[in-house]
Amino acid sequence: MSKRDYYEVLGVSKDAPKEEIKKAYRKLARKYHPDVNKEPDAADKFKEVKEAYEVLNNEQKRAQYDQFGHDGPNAQGFGGFDTEGFGGFGDIFDMFFGGGGRRRDPNAPRQGADLQYTMELDFEEAVFGKETDIHIPKEETCDTCKGSGAKPGTSPDTCSHCHGTGQLNQEQNTPFGRIVNKRACHYCQGTGKIIKSKCSTCGGSGTVKKRKKIHITIPAGIDNGQQIRVGGQGEPGVNGGPAGDLYVVIRVRPHEFFDREGDDIHCEVPLTFAQVALGDEIEVPTVHGKVKLKIPQGTQTGTHFRLREKGVPNVHGRGQGDQHIRIKVITPKNLSDRQKELLREFNELSGNDTTNEQGDNLFQRMKRAFKGE
Ligand SMILES: [Zn+2]
Ligand SMILES: [Zn+2]
Repeated sequence: MSKRDYYEVLGVSKDAPKEEIKKAYRKLARKYHPDVNKEPDAADKFKEVKEAYEVLNNEQKRAQYDQFGHDGPNAQGFGGFDTEGFGGFGDIFDMFFGGGGRRRDPNAPRQGADLQYTMELDFEEAVFGKETDIHIPKEETCDTCKGSGAKPGTSPDTCSHCHGTGQLNQEQNTPFGRIVNKRACHYCQGTGKIIKSKCSTCGGSGTVKKRKKIHITIPAGIDNGQQIRVGGQGEPGVNGGPAGDLYVVIRVRPHEFFDREGDDIHCEVPLTFAQVALGDEIEVPTVHGKVKLKIPQGTQTGTHFRLREKGVPNVHGRGQGDQHIRIKVITPKNLSDRQKELLREFNELSGNDTTNEQGDNLFQRMKRAFKGE
């Protein structure tokens, strides 16, 4: 199968600025991350997105890809010329007739990138929710220059190479004639601005890295893989655009006894043969504390009991799940002589009787089946 075009993979245009590529990547990476997305092709999609980003995020690799496509520089020249290197004829015509000329104003406000933070929770913390603070390293708008990147009292100049458009024309001779290719201006990194006296606090980037404390409310009933969106706590916007969002992805550590399925909790309770044969009253653990459970005489292994509303509160406030208990009868090992003697006596008294509740003698039926009666 031929590889998909990297721009197509990320869903961006060929002249998308770096920030847009980064943003598209984060959005897709979050969507297809195998930890979050359980669809069978998620891992492949994630890989594809990652590969596209690795190339398009690197100036040099991107330029090479723009020129030669997936084949790399070895496909260049007339002998090995491959139209695929240009993404097919369509793109060449686009280049001739300016179809690909749509581009954004580098000075337009743009939303900041979204951030992702993974939070580990204990089983009970996910059940009951909690209030917590997280500290995340974050790009913040520089206070000294208010994000312009220029020393206070000065302002950025218009880039003389691209005249503020953030874009340069690159001419190229091909068998189809001369092609004018538009590329992000590398003098100003596509911003259209050159900062002569850089802000000393941020070194001209307009942002500084800070560890920011953010208060997070984890709702009761949250589950593994779910995420909490904290609006406006992503990276700051560019040119006065709004900040991105922060996504807190929840990972729940497995519990020793409890398994969770939606809002229901499952657990297995081991009982001795005597307990199930004679009946008993036991205490079973739930996340809401211990609950008494009556075990009727003659309970079989695999018997299921439901403790209503002893499960997980629904994260959207729609009621509460149940706890399911499955009985497992434990066959004793390492018996003492006295125990063996009692069991032999018991066995003789019951005469190998496996009569079940329906009154069928299973043992007799099996014997008949093997004799073909
Ligand atoms: Zn600054
Ligand atoms: Zn420029």
